[in-house]
Amino acid sequence: MSGIKPARRWQPAFFPFKRESFGKRLLAKVEICVKGPLFGCRMCGNCLLQETAFICPMECPKGMRNGPCGGITPEKKCYVDSTRKCIWFTIYKKALKTGREETLLEVLPPLDWSKVGTETWGDVVRQIRKTGTGKFIGGIISADKTKKAVVWDSVFKTIRQPEWWSGDAEYHEAPVREPVTELERKFRKGEFVVATEVSPPIGAGTDKLIRDIESVKPFVTAINFTDSSSARPKMSSIACCKVAIDRETEPVFQIAARDSSRTSLQSDIIGANAIGIKNILCISGDNSVIGPSPTSNMNILDIDSVQMLWILRKMRDDGLYLDGRSFKHRPDLFLGAATSPFASDPVLQAIKDQKKVNAGAQFFQTNLVFEPDRLDLWLEQLDKRDILNKVFILIGVAPLKSMKVAQYLHTNVPGVSMPEKIMKRMEKAGESASEEGVQIALEVIDSVKRKQGINGIHIMTLSWESIVQRIVTESGLITPYPLKEA
Ligand code: SF4
Repeated sequence: MSGIKPARRWQPAFFPFKRESFGKRLLAKVEICVKGPLFGCRMCGNCLLQETAFICPMECPKGMRNGPCGGITPEKKCYVDSTRKCIWFTIYKKALKTGREETLLEVLPPLDWSKVGTETWGDVVRQIRKTGTGKFIGGIISADKTKKAVVWDSVFKTIRQPEWWSGDAEYHEAPVREPVTELERKFRKGEFVVATEVSPPIGAGTDKLIRDIESVKPFVTAINFTDSSSARPKMSSIACCKVAIDRETEPVFQIAARDSSRTSLQSDIIGANAIGIKNILCISGDNSVIGPSPTSNMNILDIDSVQMLWILRKMRDDGLYLDGRSFKHRPDLFLGAATSPFASDPVLQAIKDQKKVNAGAQFFQTNLVFEPDRLDLWLEQLDKRDILNKVFILIGVAPLKSMKVAQYLHTNVPGVSMPEKIMKRMEKAGESASEEGVQIALEVIDSVKRKQGINGIHIMTLSWESIVQRIVTESGLITPYPLKEA
């Protein structure tokens, strides 16, 4: 239970000037005095407490509204603010304890910022009146669970799921159509897929980028271009994707919620699709806390990765912008998301993953995996949730070039913890550390390619693009082939 916390975090800059009636301001003060100590309320004005085990998710420094990010530390602390527990871990644990974990699957909307910092009780009262006060009270005190749920939803679901969002907890299958990319085609054909990533350059020159693309192109199906990984600005992912397309190479456009608003997301995707980009990976993005100084805004400003998937799926399947405008030329999209199989408990991770699949994820790229046997528990949980047949999974594999790289990943990359035995192997290898790193990657590939439910690997090169050829050929995964246009 939280102590009183003022609505500091969600107080918009214009708050002191916003003219509201005395009654509304008074109600807001009373609301924070009650909900603050009881639920840790931050007065986001878009209350979700009924779906988050009555713990306010707005305590999350990134403002995540649909579950934890992949950066939770092994001690279940928040990587942005390591002085406190990940609030989403607490929410999930409480939901599990009270048997309410399925409520966590509902895809929750982004904030309506016009309501931030204002009271929400007025809406509740209005909805209760609409339902009928007597009927509402009767339903709430009823022993009939279904009746209780119906009457509860008639008030609270209407508030937390405004018409412009209308989120749910259902799986929305993509319409039957021809694959829109080579990546999708190979997945659907049942091939074991290899993807990789090429680091975007830090300057405007594209010579090295082109060399790197050309060097990996014959060995992979698609290339990811990161979106300012580690919150360090580099060439944009969309520009790198265009360079790849010009070289008849299939890109995966990574787009981080960290730097996106609902407006920029929708316009970027329409634009990206117009120039031939169809594989999209929606991620939260590394928080600026691990980026360069001075630290920029640590919130995810507007949308999270689940909401990104939901918005893009509706653009593709319904030809609709979030504001309800319809358009004729729908984008062809193959939608992906990131997942961190070892970030928290596999049971909890599977809930978040199911939510992403329901929202629109068609493929997953996992965080780095060094202990493939630990994947089994996670896969088991995905299977229990019946999502293994709804999503293609690429396992993240990294060839470690040196002990320094291993240490960097361990301490600086959210959601990656290097197992002690890997660290010891790298240390012991001394000058042959890069060879040891390759052997570790080959062992991981050998293990994952025999696992049910895994559809391929994603080689995270960590700027060591030249190793891709050796990895794919020595692992016996692929013989070089020319890429075809999607
Ligand atoms: S670990 Fe991620 S989800 Fe959890 S509180 Fe921190 S930023 Fe939020």
